[in-house]
Amino acid sequence: MLLKPTALAIALTSASLLLAGCEPALPVKDSTSSPQWFASGQQAANNAAPQANTSKAKNIILVVGDGMGITTHTAARIYSGQQQGLLGEEFSLSFETLPYSALIKTYNTDQQTPDSAGTMTALVTGHKTKAGILSVSDQAQRSDCASGQQHKLATLFDLAEQQGKTTGIVTTARLTHATPAALYAHSVERNWESDNKLSAAAKADNCRDIAQQLIDQNNSDQALEVVFGGGKRHFLPEQEGGKRQDQQNLLTSWQQQNPQQQVLTNLQQLQQADLTSGRWLGLFSSSHLPYIDQRDTSTPGLLDMTKAALTRLKHNNGKGYALMIEAGRIDHGHHAGSGYKALNETQELHQTVQWLLNNIDLKDTLLVVTADHSHTLTLAGYATRGNPMLGVVKGNDDQGRPKTSAKQLDDGGYYTSINYRNGPGAVDWQQGDRTSVDPERAQQADYLQQALVPLESETHGGEDVALYAAGPWAHLFGGTMEQHWVYHVMHHALTSDNAGSEDRD
Ligand SMILES: [Zn+2]
Repeated sequence: MLLKPTALAIALTSASLLLAGCEPALPVKDSTSSPQWFASGQQAANNAAPQANTSKAKNIILVVGDGMGITTHTAARIYSGQQQGLLGEEFSLSFETLPYSALIKTYNTDQQTPDSAGTMTALVTGHKTKAGILSVSDQAQRSDCASGQQHKLATLFDLAEQQGKTTGIVTTARLTHATPAALYAHSVERNWESDNKLSAAAKADNCRDIAQQLIDQNNSDQALEVVFGGGKRHFLPEQEGGKRQDQQNLLTSWQQQNPQQQVLTNLQQLQQADLTSGRWLGLFSSSHLPYIDQRDTSTPGLLDMTKAALTRLKHNNGKGYALMIEAGRIDHGHHAGSGYKALNETQELHQTVQWLLNNIDLKDTLLVVTADHSHTLTLAGYATRGNPMLGVVKGNDDQGRPKTSAKQLDDGGYYTSINYRNGPGAVDWQQGDRTSVDPERAQQADYLQQALVPLESETHGGEDVALYAAGPWAHLFGGTMEQHWVYHVMHHALTSDNAGSEDRD
């Protein structure tokens, strides 16, 4: 394995282990000495030149934290560290230990701040396109079925299937939602998740809804072996609690296509399934999977689905696999203005990648972890070291020692370390909302961080996101890259090796 936790993380974690078991609240002391800081940095620098792996990638795993901007990383890192009794800042999320990273420009061809359809299309087809469009080129117009018919784009999974690999999707969002759908559907409108949303013109021009396209692709030679997520309602007719107006039960028709194809609807079925062969459609919720703190014991989490998917994908006749894993609800937590939800969903992604790192071989597997776009989360306010991530800011005194009480602003109120620029947590200044922050309440699951601009749904952010990678050709990621370049590095890794026999087309 190529990876080692950074020297800094090792030194700081061992220094902080003495603190394990403490409440993640002040005062927790960092016992790292000045020579230890210096030595850990020195060690990190000495280890900073990992060897480039120029073998052809047999396997590829693309992990997408939907809406996981860099502030989300930092906040989730501190939050996760504090869950383990550490101060938090010195902690590393699993994917932050990968040896290669880059900044990614996320704009769509028609939008400065992007949406997930255009960004995922860039990641998995190598073409930037318009917001709202799934794996159809920029020549099409959004919602205009006819304009897209001649401009469908081949995807990373098309290439993997042509190479004889097994392919799979795991997501906590609806399977018909933008990020997973870009891998199997071609649609000029991301909202055509089921036929009830198709316009009359789209139907007349023979555009298929996204759920239908998932079933259609299963009839082809390039069918996905594993598709796990939520969104059952788009596969069921209205009289069975679904959204479909064509009265089709797509789950029944999918199972009838082939006895090797099975549908799973809960965690127990997932754990009992013989995943050594066959094609598996897992629909574990009517819409998106519930947030972590709202899931019951019959609903699998991201890690449960990832373990099961990898079991199936590893039965691949030696030809390898391609897997996309999406933590889809980071984005939704942010849209709802809930730092608690966004950080907990990010933590689940961290744990899933940690498990992957213990169960895959980076000699022949390219692992890429990135986000499609950012959000308006900010982390600010001069909190003292180890201040609870969801808490109100407690600063340091003039001598740099933690104050005994939280900082009150000139308006008399407290403020939290993380906030949003816009969204449902916006304060009404006239009503005195700004000063109403309660230190206890701020850390609860249903608290909405304060925002400036009132919007029902907090928006995406337009700044670059981070990408982390390890494995074959991961060293090609670096600097500031356009989002569609990511596809081309993945393509290169799947088709090229170091013997000079590149067959890249
Ligand atoms: Zn979003």
